[in-house]
Amino acid sequence: MSNLDPVLSHIDENLSAATERLFELMRVPSISTDPTFKEHCDAAADWLVSDLASMGVTATKRATPGHPMVVGHTNGTGKHVTFYGHYDVQPVDPLDLWHSDPFAPALEDTDVGKVIRGRGAADDKGQLMTFVEACRAWITVHGSLPINVSFFFEGEEESGSPSLIPFMRENKDELSSDLALICDTGMFDPKTPAISTQLRGLLGEELTITGPRIDLHSGMYGGAAINPIRVLSKIIASLHDAEGRVTVPGFYEGVPEMSPELQKQWEDLNFDDAAFLNAVGLSELAGEQGKTALEMLWARPTCEVNGINAGYTGDGFKTVLPSKASAKISFRLVGTQDPHAIRAAFRQMVQDALPADCSVEFKGHGNSSAVQMSTADPAFEKARLALSDEWPNPAAFVGCGGSIPIAGHFKTELDTDAMLIGFGRDDDAIHSPNEKYDLESFHKGMRSWARVLDALSL
Ligand SMILES: [Zn+2]
Repeated sequence: MSNLDPVLSHIDENLSAATERLFELMRVPSISTDPTFKEHCDAAADWLVSDLASMGVTATKRATPGHPMVVGHTNGTGKHVTFYGHYDVQPVDPLDLWHSDPFAPALEDTDVGKVIRGRGAADDKGQLMTFVEACRAWITVHGSLPINVSFFFEGEEESGSPSLIPFMRENKDELSSDLALICDTGMFDPKTPAISTQLRGLLGEELTITGPRIDLHSGMYGGAAINPIRVLSKIIASLHDAEGRVTVPGFYEGVPEMSPELQKQWEDLNFDDAAFLNAVGLSELAGEQGKTALEMLWARPTCEVNGINAGYTGDGFKTVLPSKASAKISFRLVGTQDPHAIRAAFRQMVQDALPADCSVEFKGHGNSSAVQMSTADPAFEKARLALSDEWPNPAAFVGCGGSIPIAGHFKTELDTDAMLIGFGRDDDAIHSPNEKYDLESFHKGMRSWARVLDALSL
């Protein structure tokens, strides 16, 4: 018999005790953004320290200028991983939309099975505890973990993580390991687990084009004077070519081609492009020709106009030629695209397109590079196969169209790749009233981590 089987059995037999421990943590109203809950955040950190200690993990609460961090070590042998989760939760208002007390967690029967109801059920207490419980099961059954595990819990994730990067820098040696494991994401669908391995970066630009010194009357000056709205529109229209590709010079430098394996994995996900679009009243893909929706969302960069401001936009009508026209434009980046180079190329492109009587001012907004995990590390394929053993459908390496800052911080601050494995579902209502976590997610989540720990030891 393998080492894994008795661990899985232990998890199955102790599901209700594990659920009760999660409830204990969920009863602590650790809302990080509201200072009146400060001592509760502290109490949640204390709870985690003593829970880890009860498993034989050396754990400490670490003060920061904000809410404390919890760090624990097992001093095991073999591959060393650092597991990250966050114990803080979102505020609960509007409270009257909750059907039950958000901090009185309970199991609830629903049409689709039992769910754990309450704030933090899915984000992130329930997810965090899937990993802790998997470790507890390993330690209870075998006396130790199959690999060396460190724990790193944050209490400010829902309020912008102000202490995170300074803490990572100050404790770089202690937090560094071979691989970070993060449980704060979702499954691809309820039958298909996912490991997020590529997260897009983001670059923001705001430009304001000035033509005439003052607003002009379109009867007195129209036809003779330059209109900055026309200039801005022309520039915006020129940002994509007829095939939907972005025209900023050098934009596609660093955009990787997809490997045939990844292409196959994404095809096998059978993502329904039509349903995805129909859900928001659309019927055809608007990105680069020849790409699927998943490729457009996960693997390809974008340029989008997020806002335009110019001229008279109030009620009624005003025949004005405005002095200024501005727009906010964002780029989602992939691979090794360089946000600084793209910003410079975009600004040059705009400058080159300006008529003599116009000038432009730029304001840069945040920029972050894409995060691409090195899936050539065999740990990724081992974990993918381990997850595939637990769930009905095989697991896939997926992308994430948005950003998950913690994964980027592990990479930039600790030079560690992160494996993002989560068991959330789209209908978990995280950040909303009546948050839930399916009992199946919790149960199979624990089993999944038990399998991943085993796979990483081989
Ligand atoms: Zn979260």
